[in-house]
Amino acid sequence: MAQIKFFLDEKKLPRYWYNVQADLPQPLPPPLHPGTRQPVGPQDLARLFPMALIGQEVSQDREIEIPEEVWDYYRLWRPSPLMRAQRLEKALDTPAHIYYKYEGVSPVGSHKLNTAIAQAYFNHQEGVKRLATETGAGQWGTALSLAGKVFGIEVKVFMVRVSYDQKPYRRAVMETYGATVSSSPSTETESGRRVLAETPDTTGSLGIAISEAIEAALKDEGTKYSLGSVLNHVMLHQTIIGLESISQMEMAGEYPDVVIGCAGGGSNLAGISFPYIGANLRDKKKTRVIAVEPASCPTLTKGVYAYDFGDESGFTPYLKMHTLGHRFIPPGLHAGGLRYHGMSPLVSHLVNLGQIEPRACNQIPCFEAATQFAQAEGVIPAPESSHAIRVAIDEALRCRMEGRREIILFNLSGHGHFDMSAYAKYIGGEMVNYEYDPSEAMKDLPQI
Ligand SMILES: *Cc1c(COP(=O)(O)O)cnc(C)c1O
Repeated sequence: MAQIKFFLDEKKLPRYWYNVQADLPQPLPPPLHPGTRQPVGPQDLARLFPMALIGQEVSQDREIEIPEEVWDYYRLWRPSPLMRAQRLEKALDTPAHIYYKYEGVSPVGSHKLNTAIAQAYFNHQEGVKRLATETGAGQWGTALSLAGKVFGIEVKVFMVRVSYDQKPYRRAVMETYGATVSSSPSTETESGRRVLAETPDTTGSLGIAISEAIEAALKDEGTKYSLGSVLNHVMLHQTIIGLESISQMEMAGEYPDVVIGCAGGGSNLAGISFPYIGANLRDKKKTRVIAVEPASCPTLTKGVYAYDFGDESGFTPYLKMHTLGHRFIPPGLHAGGLRYHGMSPLVSHLVNLGQIEPRACNQIPCFEAATQFAQAEGVIPAPESSHAIRVAIDEALRCRMEGRREIILFNLSGHGHFDMSAYAKYIGGEMVNYEYDPSEAMKDLPQI
């Protein structure tokens, strides 16, 4: 029984990204200026982002062309493989067919390079020489470090402290690509110094690291800011994943009943699922989409759908999204990329419209699923991706109980080669599930 791979002909690598905004039955609530509470205009964002990305943020075009230079770089690892997990199906004794799209084959080991290379390109086109950014587990910082080097841009990364301490090699990777890395909260920004003064032992959070990166960009005229998830243009760039998978599923002669992705800021989930959601909205297809988040940072399942800041200090516009409050510090779970208080406004809107089902999982059952997957299929998944695998397995077991042959597709957003200390903890029985503490959530939520 050979594992089945479906590689696309390189000539079929999509030439455009898919913009779900073109197919929304109700428009996305716009970001608001915190002072005026009016929708922000392009000029409000121009200090932080190049105009091309601001244009993509609000575009209503269904297809947005991938520039030749970006497309050419994608060819290094794209199309990424679509695999049928036949050994896992057998181990689960399920009639379901399980497929996964493997983004761990990118040079940096995750889907993040899909948008990093596009963002670096559009910044380079507008003459930007320096970018500041945040990173949680280190995947985004790694991707932007490489992408910056490709287009001659210096990259400064604020890395969430718990990951900085847990994953020292991630920092070394970023530095190998030529970036400068600081542990966040740092003493280099006012945001960082304030948090350190209030809570010296903090684990840090993505919200704090975003504040530090924006502050660093605002302080230096020649520096712009880059975000690895959450924003519409990031969701857009990631749709290359789902677009490829549609052609690959066609080669397999199947169409998914269920599409699953883990969700931190929402970008890999958007990437795999938005093209299928577009087909649901346009062609009355009925694919279910499931977003899987950590039970200890349950933005979609326990948060509110409200206007909130995207960062801890309140530098960003108000974004309408599912949120636990911008002051929420998630516990130090191993899936560092899922430790975010908010969620992509597009993903939040689609949850609200009933197009995406949210689900929350604890980290121990996720590592159990990741280990079962690794033993069946060989790939060791990133702790973030293990959340998608947990639910893919649960769905396959449901199919077994119901005797249904459904087609399940999940996104394997990255490999876990830099996360072996987490696997060692799991194997050694030292891993714990963190509880979500609602008393720590929804603090200082803007009243709108
Ligand atoms: C960053 C990351 C995530 C979470 O971010 P999303 O924007 O929700 O995709 C998930 N998986 C991996 C491997 C990551 O690096």
